[in-house]
Amino acid sequence: MLRVAVIGGGPSGSCAAEILAKSGIKTWIFERKLDNAKPCGGAIPLCMVEEFDLPETIIDRKVRHMKMISPSNREVDISLDNVYGKSDNEYIGMCRREVMDAFMRNRASELGATLVNGLVTSIDTGNDNQGPYKLSYSDFSSGDKKGELKELTVDLLIGADGANSRVAKAMDAGDYKVAIAFQERIKLPKEEMSYYEDLAEMYVGTDVSPDFYGWVFPKYDHVAVGTGTMQKNQSLIKGLQEGVRNRAKKRLVNGEVIKVEAHPIPEHPRPRRVVGRMALVGDAAGYVTKSSGEGIYFAAKSGRMCAEEIVEASKNGQEIPSEKDLKNYLKKMGQKIRYNLQGTRNSSKYFL
Ligand SMILES: Cc1cc2nc3c(=O)[nH]c(=O)nc-3n(C[C@H](O)[C@H](O)[C@H](O)COP(=O)(O)OP(=O)(O)OC[C@H]3O[C@@H](n4cnc5c(N)ncnc54)[C@H](O)[C@@H]3O)c2cc1C
Repeated sequence: MLRVAVIGGGPSGSCAAEILAKSGIKTWIFERKLDNAKPCGGAIPLCMVEEFDLPETIIDRKVRHMKMISPSNREVDISLDNVYGKSDNEYIGMCRREVMDAFMRNRASELGATLVNGLVTSIDTGNDNQGPYKLSYSDFSSGDKKGELKELTVDLLIGADGANSRVAKAMDAGDYKVAIAFQERIKLPKEEMSYYEDLAEMYVGTDVSPDFYGWVFPKYDHVAVGTGTMQKNQSLIKGLQEGVRNRAKKRLVNGEVIKVEAHPIPEHPRPRRVVGRMALVGDAAGYVTKSSGEGIYFAAKSGRMCAEEIVEASKNGQEIPSEKDLKNYLKKMGQKIRYNLQGTRNSSKYFL
């Protein structure tokens, strides 16, 4: 029986593990931190809720009004009410990643994937990168912070380990340009929070970002306030964040910062996303819309599509798929998201 390890328990890894486990393939999913709160605005499109069968309990807020705020603070309200009329069925979902990720990961585990609370520290990729693949990892399941050193050998690897992917390094996938995003979670008193009941804000202007936008996205009892910019402007990021806070200050004045977080966002796919029997999905692959930084849906979608290809090519785990088989996933994923990545520099060169 085919043995597959999925490294990373975010949306891409969980969606891959779920499909593999459902088909009976022996699947491990590694996540270094089971309560991981991935730095993220947590905004998801409605199609994600439907396609990935997400329960309403993981959605903190259903946003129906997006306020776009110009450099001179003019506000344009883009309201779904104007498009669809007043309805509860159309919205942008706002989630806390620790809640959403835990739900998807646990679902994969309940369907039969072995969930390992462990940090994969090194990967031996075998002869000519063809495997079998020997993983060394620190297993934290006993509660020991240092973890117990362990090894696992598998036939196929899925790198779902985000923008700083170790799997990408091990397979020499090549680099991508990144944007740097910064975010503060600000807890608001009930009254101030009620303003953000079903409303999010996007700010534009050089004070908030020279090349991206600032945001205030509502969550259960707080707002996520953040901004992003290209890596070359990285040194400006704290000043830009100050810019967003200034612009939104009349509503944030009684807020309490409960978390400060920062993380890279890929700007385009990596040059190589399949090498031997190793495949990258989600941020590790670089599947993010450059103009908006949206990556959750494409992470889930790429994880699922990669796993579906493995299930089909392996005849439900009876055979070991080839590099050519895995590249079919890239082709299909390229067809799926080429349009979304069109803003990406030289986007066509990233697709087969
Ligand atoms: C500030 C910010 C705001 C954003 N806002 C939005 C938004 O509103 N909407 C949207 O759609 N996208 C947003 N994005 C992008 C989105 O967060 C990513 O595209 C998405 O998280 C990618 O999912 P993934 O599963 O591929 O990777 P990740 O979510 O990064 O998950 C990778 C997982 O792998 C684990 N891991 C890593 N290395 C190892 C290892 N060696 N061993 C074991 N486990 C490991 C990590 O702990 C993590 O849980 C935002 C990004 C940032 C930085």
